[in-house]
Amino acid sequence: MKSSMKNKTKTAIYSLALALPFILNGNSHHNKEGTDITAALISSKEKITLESARKNYLIRQKYLDSLLEKTSIPYCLGAVYDHHGTKIVDYLVERAAELESPEKINEVLNEFKKQFIEGDYDVKTPEILELSAKKQTSKIFIGRKIFEELLYLQDEDIKHIIVAHEGRHVEQHALGLEYLAKEEIIEGIHNGSIRLPVIYNAGEMDANAHGLIRIASGEFKVNKPYLITTIESYLISRQGLVEALKTASPIEQRLISNAINKVNSFSQLRVFNKK
Ligand SMILES: [Zn+2]
Repeated sequence: MKSSMKNKTKTAIYSLALALPFILNGNSHHNKEGTDITAALISSKEKITLESARKNYLIRQKYLDSLLEKTSIPYCLGAVYDHHGTKIVDYLVERAAELESPEKINEVLNEFKKQFIEGDYDVKTPEILELSAKKQTSKIFIGRKIFEELLYLQDEDIKHIIVAHEGRHVEQHALGLEYLAKEEIIEGIHNGSIRLPVIYNAGEMDANAHGLIRIASGEFKVNKPYLITTIESYLISRQGLVEALKTASPIEQRLISNAINKVNSFSQLRVFNKK
């Protein structure tokens, strides 16, 4: 999801990214995999509340399906509840098979399995950098933390996380990060001229900025605690880039200034962009 929401998550993403240079992030929405007997017994007309989904994991997919019923997420193939942390790994295995040298990714996937074991994560859009910018659809995975740990989150907050924040990551994957060509990013990561936290922060700042704009427009009526964490995440990723600029390679300088110029152009964020 994002950096300040959970520092632990941030660390996990960093270590994952460092371990697996090809995998940055992942993605899903409205699929029927989560349907089971318990869920089937509940009439499709009956509204499943967040409170009941928090108590019963068997109805969490149905809760998400109804939460997202009238929304559309460009390039998103579905939002999948992943209670055991296995669906996200299976998905990545499937995607990795599309790579030219899929065997290279085995080590990475083993690391990934450890990271996502037991579904102990919030929300992720797994992306394989090499498959990005091909207008491919991707899935968004929702782990147990949304229901079991981040109890301050309400319906509209969860909808915003999936549709606006992860939805933006889905777009980044489909269209490529607009601040630098994908080939340059891949080459830069390989030759060390682009540090992974720089890419990570650029993606997060972009997703948080776009998410905040959709709140400012009134499209999402999120709650205050969530709004505050979203602003914090935005500022942390932005600050990360500003700091990185001090020691940036020429290619990083270009990426960072493109990213910062872009978010500075959003008048809704002016109050946060003073630095
Ligand atoms: Zn994110």
